[in-house]
Amino acid sequence: MFQSIDAWSLARQVWVFAAGCCLGSFFNVVIYRLPAGKSLVTPGSHCPGCGHAIAFYDNIPIFSYLLLMGKCRYCRGRISIRYPAVEAITGLFALGLFLRYGWEAQFAIEFVFISLLILITFIDLDTYEIPNVLSLSGTVFGFLCSFATPRLSWTDSLLGILIGGGSFYAIAALFQYLRKKEGMGMGDVKLLGMIGAFLGLPGVLLTIMVSSIVGTLAGLPVMWRSREGMSTRIPFGPFLAIGAICYLFWGPAFIQWYLSDFWGA
Ligand SMILES: [Zn+2]
Repeated sequence: MFQSIDAWSLARQVWVFAAGCCLGSFFNVVIYRLPAGKSLVTPGSHCPGCGHAIAFYDNIPIFSYLLLMGKCRYCRGRISIRYPAVEAITGLFALGLFLRYGWEAQFAIEFVFISLLILITFIDLDTYEIPNVLSLSGTVFGFLCSFATPRLSWTDSLLGILIGGGSFYAIAALFQYLRKKEGMGMGDVKLLGMIGAFLGLPGVLLTIMVSSIVGTLAGLPVMWRSREGMSTRIPFGPFLAIGAICYLFWGPAFIQWYLSDFWGA
């Protein structure tokens, strides 16, 4: 009896992971085509090296990459490790959220949020731009979701949007005033608005804190090695995404610990 229940829940988990990987495969297409203004549907997948169409059996997430040993079947050109990585990351987050929530609505809400963060991270790394179509529609979606979940009130979501986006706008404006050039883009401001919509005010403030620390630790060695030094352009979107995901998984536990153990409240 228990054996069969376990087998069923395992099958469900494998299914959720596999479905997540397939979505990740589609995200690879979006990451590549959305900034270029190309259609997300047609033409079908093809090798960026030789242009040969990719058959379905060579387009199975992660497996095909391993079977082909990271090379195109036709031209033997290298396939970026990023493709299976995006597939695996998406699958793992889908599984992680499923283990946490099961089929609750919160699973869908947070998976949409993380999916947007994955897309934004890789597009920002490639182009130094964050498409408005992702950040602004994500903000609206996150705000609307606050009406559907007891976890976040709509006022908290709205405050997250305004103060999250607004505080970063103030930092960006100050930086621009002092350095006489643009340091952080409006794309980051809108991304923080979206993060605020999903996480609320404490969430977006902790996201700014974590991403500033991680961004500084990761950015300094890059600037050190680069010829441009302090002026090296580093996309900040990926760090904001890391901060937001840290908060999503560990934030409430961290706040609990901070208030009870650190301050003894
Ligand atoms: Zn090829």
